[in-house]
Amino acid sequence: MKKNDPYILLFSCCALTKGVTQTLMADFQRFMFELLPNEFYKILTSTCRKKTYAELLDGFDEADRETAKEYFEYLLAKEYAFLCDKDEIALFPPLATTWDYPAEISNAIIDFKKVPASFAMHHSFIQQLDELGCCDIQFRCFCSMPVVKLKELYAMIAKTGIYRTELLIRYDPEVSLDEYSAFMNATPYVNTLFLHGFPENKAITLASDQKFYCITEVLPDESCCGNIGFHYFNLSITHYTESLHFNTCLNRKISLSADGHIRNCPSLKDSYGHISKVSLKEVIRKKKFSGFGRIRKDQIDDCKVCEYRNVCTDCRAYTIGNSITGKPAKCRYDPYKGVWL
Ligand code: SF4
Ligand code: SF4
Repeated sequence: MKKNDPYILLFSCCALTKGVTQTLMADFQRFMFELLPNEFYKILTSTCRKKTYAELLDGFDEADRETAKEYFEYLLAKEYAFLCDKDEIALFPPLATTWDYPAEISNAIIDFKKVPASFAMHHSFIQQLDELGCCDIQFRCFCSMPVVKLKELYAMIAKTGIYRTELLIRYDPEVSLDEYSAFMNATPYVNTLFLHGFPENKAITLASDQKFYCITEVLPDESCCGNIGFHYFNLSITHYTESLHFNTCLNRKISLSADGHIRNCPSLKDSYGHISKVSLKEVIRKKKFSGFGRIRKDQIDDCKVCEYRNVCTDCRAYTIGNSITGKPAKCRYDPYKGVWL
């Protein structure tokens, strides 16, 4: 590329979200983000395609020009941005922001509060999930779960197209870590296992790339969910584009509560019926069921002005004022001040 009187463009894998105090630049290739002053939002999303780099710098007051130059040079040095000629700009179109998923349900939660005598109702739920194209389940055991029971549960999964699962299990001193490791080694579609209520925090190394973590925190029931923070941010392009159109937690999610009721998520009060009485197909046709998945971050109090809204997850079960559009109650970020409390 020629660099005479060049233009400066962000790479298409970098997307900006403007907040009330600052702008977030997400890099979907390196799964990183940077924070920029809001003055750069319009410049880097549109003006940069119409004005040269030199003209952009001229647009700043003399007092701010040197600082602006430092920001641009930082973006170039870190390879978030590049220089190109005018006739090359059309070769770098902005990122497409459409989102879709090839299944009516993309992810599910199944809760356990005690070791079940039978998995009959779970079997029915899992079979129907498979028919709907769901391939991702989180099993949350707020109780211990013997390995023999896990094997029984995963024997069902093996007969489906479900290939990604996360397991949360209450630590039981009677079951050794080696037993869980052996179970994971034999069960490749357990992506992650968290043993909660363990005496110490530690990660167990497995031969595969499966993750096995022991955590001291006890997860007593469904109220453990809905946490917001940096480590829950998702910098994938699919999360970003989904957030522009849908709810980042509840879109195409369905759950089976420990008592057998079908819900959007086990923490939401509305039940669409017991798994023994109603089919998942009937449930997902209900207007109220899909309504939760349509609540975008830019419709939610405070989140709508937050620069993190397109990489943040959401929670509609625990909200400030119990409002359907209330800010997630477990978020400690104040977007108006740009500080974590
Ligand atoms: S809505 Fe909240 S409680 Fe329910 S699954 Fe999402 S984050 Fe968890
Ligand atoms: S205000 Fe909190 S919950 Fe809302 S988008 Fe920002 S960080 Fe996420």
